Amino acid sequence: MKGEIEINVIGGGLAGVEAARAISNAGLHARLYEMRPAVTTPAHATGLLGELVCSNSLKSDVEGTASGLLKAEMRLLGSAVLDAAEKHRVPAGSALAVDRTAFAEELTATVESDPNIELVREEVVEIPDGTTVVATGPLTSGRFAEALHETLGTEQLYFYDAIAPVIEAGSIDMGAAFPAARYDKGEGDYVNCPLNAEEYRAFVGELAAAETAELKDFEEGLFFEGCVPIEELARRGLDTLRFGPFKPVGLVDPQTGERPYAVVQLRAEDAAGNYLGMVGCQTRLKYAEQERVFRMVPALANARFIRLGSAHRNTYVNGPTCLAPTLEALRRPGFFVAGQLTGVEGYVESAATGIIAGTNAARVTAGRRPIYPPADTMIGSLLRYVTTGRHDAFVPANASYGIMPPAPPEHKGKQAKAKYRRKTGLASLEIWLAGVKQE
Ligand SMILES: Cc1cc2nc3c(=O)[nH]c(=O)nc-3n(C[C@H](O)[C@H](O)[C@H](O)COP(=O)(O)OP(=O)(O)OC[C@H]3O[C@@H](n4cnc5c(N)ncnc54)[C@H](O)[C@@H]3O)c2cc1C
Repeated sequence: MKGEIEINVIGGGLAGVEAARAISNAGLHARLYEMRPAVTTPAHATGLLGELVCSNSLKSDVEGTASGLLKAEMRLLGSAVLDAAEKHRVPAGSALAVDRTAFAEELTATVESDPNIELVREEVVEIPDGTTVVATGPLTSGRFAEALHETLGTEQLYFYDAIAPVIEAGSIDMGAAFPAARYDKGEGDYVNCPLNAEEYRAFVGELAAAETAELKDFEEGLFFEGCVPIEELARRGLDTLRFGPFKPVGLVDPQTGERPYAVVQLRAEDAAGNYLGMVGCQTRLKYAEQERVFRMVPALANARFIRLGSAHRNTYVNGPTCLAPTLEALRRPGFFVAGQLTGVEGYVESAATGIIAGTNAARVTAGRRPIYPPADTMIGSLLRYVTTGRHDAFVPANASYGIMPPAPPEHKGKQAKAKYRRKTGLASLEIWLAGVKQE
């Protein structure tokens, strides 16, 4: 690649890999910097590109859902992350869950075998010259985060996010658990650990009272609502978990022939099903407390924990003050931000912004205008949300119908509205893409 113009992509996570691939697909060259394994973050465990730090689920792939629409749009644009996910899918009912190691190995191999991408294993500490995509993620190291915010001319924002424990499958008492997916969707994709009313109350009581790990600079109440630690949910009320992550709907315990009072669900982390993640059990309890409290669930009495939960500070930029919907910095042409740093929240959302930032970095390098999809698409709505929303109270967002323009009033009910949005969103994206290709 000597002598060719190269575009810098900083960060080999979900967004960075998508950006590098989009640049390569445009026929240009990317230099992708990834600091792991020499320098790591508090949540990553390997040197693999696109490592998933917590859940192995890329959320729903069902047609009527906001996340399903986002994925359908990404498939139209071309997504390395979704291609790898499809190849290494593990059973998870209607969710797209993956074997996390095989998935990250696939993305790493895709990048390493791409002649248009040079992978540089190095921590970037200063903002480089030239066209650049910054995709260093929510755990961007302090020094680089400062340089980034200075370049963008914006304040540094943050919230907290937590990780759920992972358990060795062989240590679960299957005599006290049963495999099933809600409403029998999928073939026993989840291991369900039932709790009767008495067990549930004792468990919630201990969870709410258990000791929490101290966090540096921690401010209470700064958790993203979709990732509130389980002990915090337990403190909100006795029934909160039973109507939340431990809801038993759509499940029948074969031993009693009845719906359990509450259910702790676990889902395979790898294709062989050797490791199971505790669904919705993100926590910042002290490690010893996690083991003590989770072992109160009868099926988990002898559970061996492969990984315990933890909480981390997520950095993001105040997009409405410093980014255009193309993800280009307002103050610095040719400088793009992608991934969770932009204020989107979630694996798939982060990857989606990587496609747009990479595409635009390639376009401006080739002397073309940067672009972004129309407002009636999920990606277009996400980009507008993170770059044109309220800057004085800017908080991250997932893909949701709430950030899209309202459906016309004749589409009544949730299902009809979702159907309308999918139909118009995909049609609109196809027309837009055809126009962009002709430019
Ligand atoms: C603790 C935690 C748990 C989360 N759990 C979930 C979840 O369960 N589900 C979900 O959908 N989302 C979750 N998220 C949110 C988000 O979807 C993920 O963080 C996602 O990986 C973001 O993608 P990204 O590409 O923006 O960043 P990342 O995937 O984090 O990639 C950034 C990459 O940049 C590298 N890097 C950082 N700084 C430098 C530097 N200076 N030089 C070179 N390389 C650098 C990092 O090593 C990393 O590989 C979680 C986030 C955190 C922090």
